Amino acid sequence: MASQPASPFPQTAADAPSAVASPPLPTVGIVGLGLIGGSLGLDLCRQGYRVLGVSRRLETCQRAVARGAVTAASQALASLAVADVIVLCTPLDALLPTVQQLLPHLSPETVLTDVGSVKQPVVATIAPLWPWFVGGHPMAGTTEQGIDAALENLFLHRPYVLTPTAQTPVTAVAQVERLARALGAAIYHCDPAEHDQAVAWISHLPVMVSTGLFQAWLREPSPTVRRLAQQLASSGFCDTSRVGGGNPELGTLMARYNREPLLASLRAYRQGLDQIIDAIEAEDWAAIAEVLHQGHQARPAFLE
Ligand code: NAP
Repeated sequence: MASQPASPFPQTAADAPSAVASPPLPTVGIVGLGLIGGSLGLDLCRQGYRVLGVSRRLETCQRAVARGAVTAASQALASLAVADVIVLCTPLDALLPTVQQLLPHLSPETVLTDVGSVKQPVVATIAPLWPWFVGGHPMAGTTEQGIDAALENLFLHRPYVLTPTAQTPVTAVAQVERLARALGAAIYHCDPAEHDQAVAWISHLPVMVSTGLFQAWLREPSPTVRRLAQQLASSGFCDTSRVGGGNPELGTLMARYNREPLLASLRAYRQGLDQIIDAIEAEDWAAIAEVLHQGHQARPAFLE
C-alpha cells in the first residue's frame, strides 16, 4: 500500500548540507490555527519560515502570534495571497468552503495541501478545483484541541502521508515534502482510498472502540460497582480509553467522512467480539487462549 520515497529520513531545513545551495524558504499560509495548524506553525517559525496564519476567531489569531506559531495572523483569507504553500488545518467539514473562498486569492501555482484525517473525499472534491492540491495527513495529535494545545516537535519522527494523484504536479508534491521534512516527519505516499482504509483500522476504529469501553462501563447497573470500578481503574483502563476521550467534533467528522471503511472495520471487530463471546459461553478455553496467544505474538511485530 504505502510506499516511501527515496529519502524518507527526517531532515530539517536547518540540517540542510548547504544553506547557500538551498532554494529560499517558501512563505507558508496556515488556515485553522488549532492543535495541528498551531503545531505546524511553531516548528516552521522556529526554522525561519515566514508563516501567515488565518483563523476564524480574532482571539485565536492573537494567541497564535503571541505563542510564536505564526509571523502574522488575520481572519481574512485574502491575506494568504502572497503565500507559496497553504496548509489547510481546519476541521474536515470546513475544508471545501475554505478552498472555495481562497480560490480568487491564489496565484496560478500556489500549492495547497491539507492535514485532514480522511483523504479520499477531500482529494476527490478539492483536486478538481485546484490542480496544485496535494492531500496530506500528518499522523500525530493529542486529545486536546485549539491553539493553546499546539506543541513543538509534534510531528518529529511521525509518519506524514501524502496522497498525490497521477495528475498532481511533481513540483507541488516536492514543496509539501519539503515542509514535512522540515518538521522531521517520515514521508509516505499512498492512494487516498487505501489511506482511509488503513487509518480506519489504526485510528478511527480505536477511537470508536475506546469510546465504546466507556459506554460499557456506564451501562453497569449498580452505582456501587460502577464507583468501585472507577476507583480501581489503573493504567490498563486509562490506556484503552484514552483515544475515546479526545475531541468529539474530530471523531464525529472522521465517522462522517470515512463512513464505509470505518463501518467495515467495526463489523470485523464485532465479528471478533462475537467469536470471543461464543468461546466463553461454550467454555472453549483453548479458543480463548489461541486468540490471546495470537495477540501476544503479533503485537510486538506490529509495533516494530
Ligand atoms: P482544532 O484544534 O479544533 O483546530 C482547528 C482550528 O480551526 C480551530 O481552532 C478553529 O480556530 C479553526 N477553524 C475552524 N473552522 C475554521 C474556518 N472555517 N476557518 C478558519 N479556521 C477555522 O483541531 P485539530 O485537531 O487541529 O484538527 C484540525 C485538522 O487536523 C482536522 O482536519 C483533522 O482531521 C486533522 N488532524 C487532526 C489530528 C488530531 O489528532 N487532532 C491529527 C491529524 C490530523 P478558531 O479558534 O479560530 O475557531
